[in-house]
Amino acid sequence: MIFDSHAHYDDEAFDEDRESLLGSMQENGIGYIVNVGASLRGVEDTVKLTKSYPFIYGAVGIHPDEAGDLNEERLLWLEKLCEEEKIVAVGEIGLDYYWDKESHEVQKEWFARQLALSKKAGLPVIIHSRDAAKDTIDVMKAEHAGSTGGVIHCFSNSREMARDYVNMGYYIGIGGVVTFKNARVMKEVAEYVPLEQILIETDCPYLAPAPNRGKRNSSLFLPYIIEEIARIKGISKELVEEKTCENALKMYQIKS
Ligand SMILES: [Zn+2]
Repeated sequence: MIFDSHAHYDDEAFDEDRESLLGSMQENGIGYIVNVGASLRGVEDTVKLTKSYPFIYGAVGIHPDEAGDLNEERLLWLEKLCEEEKIVAVGEIGLDYYWDKESHEVQKEWFARQLALSKKAGLPVIIHSRDAAKDTIDVMKAEHAGSTGGVIHCFSNSREMARDYVNMGYYIGIGGVVTFKNARVMKEVAEYVPLEQILIETDCPYLAPAPNRGKRNSSLFLPYIIEEIARIKGISKELVEEKTCENALKMYQIKS
């Protein structure tokens, strides 16, 4: 069974056909999906999705682009949601210095506070890090983020950075980028990271894999990512599918 460890089915890109698309997942071998909240609205919709579909689990957290929306009261609201039965992670949280929508101070403060929340809740974290590699790892170390574990989603850095995260016990989230012809570094990372520490993800509606690059992404395109990881590692597609599903079940503490 295929496990999509990171999706955004609350996105408006799915407004027209969300129900029929999600209804077709299980017959296409998609066994589990974790829908990831990124904004206040996204978190609310994520909780709703987990209640509507038995195979959808959720993560609650505020993305660095939206970190300025957080305050003490809203942090308490997130903490309460962490107690919901199908909420399995805090995320996505982190730092984004590419879009730089909030000041670095604001981003770092709420990243640290949400890492602390994950520890309190006993949940793993889903980390978003873009153009902020050093600060990301510094905040993680200061908050002892190794103790909750988690995933670096849509990993887009060097093999050396991947090694640091793998040594902290983190999973590396691999998405559509690995299938792009010019993604040399990402292919190196996929070769280097042990299969035991890889999760596969869509980040849909974004980042559709080749040959659907540029189109709306969905979990139905995950076989292209599985195929490419299998090719790079010289192992079977079945093994990649099976092991990455097992890894995600373990990290999110879901009983199969
Ligand atoms: Zn995402």
